[in-house]
Order: sequence, then C-alpha cells, then structure tokens
Amino acid sequence: MQFVFPPPAPAAVPVAGDSVFFPVHRIYCVGRNYAEHAREMGGTGREAPFFFMKPADAVLPVPIGAIGQMAYPTQTADLQHEIELVIAVGKGGHDIDAEAALQHVWGYAVGLDMTRRDLQGEAKKLGRPWCTGKGFDYSAPIGPIHRVAQCALAANASIELKVNGSVRQHSTLDQLIWSIPEIIAYCSKFYALQPGDLIFTGTPAGVAAVAPGDLLEGAIAGLGALSLRIV
Ligand code: MN
Repeated sequence: MQFVFPPPAPAAVPVAGDSVFFPVHRIYCVGRNYAEHAREMGGTGREAPFFFMKPADAVLPVPIGAIGQMAYPTQTADLQHEIELVIAVGKGGHDIDAEAALQHVWGYAVGLDMTRRDLQGEAKKLGRPWCTGKGFDYSAPIGPIHRVAQCALAANASIELKVNGSVRQHSTLDQLIWSIPEIIAYCSKFYALQPGDLIFTGTPAGVAAVAPGDLLEGAIAGLGALSLRIV
C-alpha cells in the first residue's frame, strides 16, 4: 500500500516484564463507576454508568520505576486527576456475554484519566461533547500492561492515588458499580471490541486539581505503581 505520507507509528504501551508492546486500538472510558465519585460529581450514585472515548494516541506510557512527565495542558485552569484500573482487551467481540467476558481480557494496567474539569463542566452545562475536556493529547498516562496470567488482581484490590505524598483517592475494586465483566459486556453492545482496546473503568471519589510540579503516585495492588510529574 502506498501512502501519501508516512502513517504515524501506532500508539503502544509496554508490557510488564517483557520487551514487547501492546498496540492500542481505541480507548473507552466509563464515567461514574464508583458511587461516592458519582455523588461528588453531582449525581445520586445510583445512575447507570456510561462511556466516553479518548483517541488511541492520548496514551502517555510510563515505564516501571520511572517518573513520567505530563506537560500541563493548554486551555484549562483546572486539570484534575482520576486514578483508574485499565482493562486491556486481547480478543474482540460484539454482544459479549458477561459470563464469558473475562476471556476477552489480555491484561490490566494502572491508568490516569486526566481531565480538564473546567472544559468538561462547561460542556455538560451546554449539552456539548466532552472531547476537549477528556480526549486531549497525553490525557491517558498509563503504566505497563500486566498479562492476566502474570498478575494477581484480587477482587478487593486497593486502588489509590497520592499527590505529593498525601492520599487523595482511595478505594477497592469491589466498589466498582459495574464489574469488569459487566463493563466489557455493556461496551460490546455499542461497539465491536477489538484486540488492542483499552477500557478505563472509572475513578473513586477524591478527584481534585493538580498544578505544575505536583508528583502523582497511583497504585493498584497487584499491578504496581504509576508515577507522574506535572511540568
Ligand atoms: Mn474517569
């Protein structure tokens, strides 16, 4: 195939303990999947969660043991952190049964759904899309992807985010309103999932603003840490 100019390199995330990369196809994100966070965003905590998307090349991979760097984005005065469990899809499918959904999981990672909250809030008020608030460049910092067979992700694993050493977000994965299989089943009703899809599963309560110089340290028990400096 002849291209009119060289196509961009595929978006990719390192695989933990290996030299290979996971190629990213799409990034789906679940909104309001922890009741306490749904309440802090003005909901009742009982609404059904929903999806939005980020572009695949919004990933900002951070190797194990490294401190990633994220430039404070333009057009916002309220950049906020959202620590999330990320599902890496290895087998595609449409209308996947929840009972069979875990067979579609290739691995898991720690991710940050970085958000221009002021732009998202304005979009909500005006009934406009969230793209500028959620789907901007480098808005998806992510640690290495751990293969399912090689990670011990407990049902009640802790998920936590510290900013400059202080705990800002803390919960456990059993607090997800929609479980991992339910998220995969529901998402696959609307889209044919493909190998390479990433699904950000939602954030616990405690989202807040960050500033240049801040050090974000996210962790999910069994998946290690994700460190990021805002510059
Ligand atoms: Mn989120």
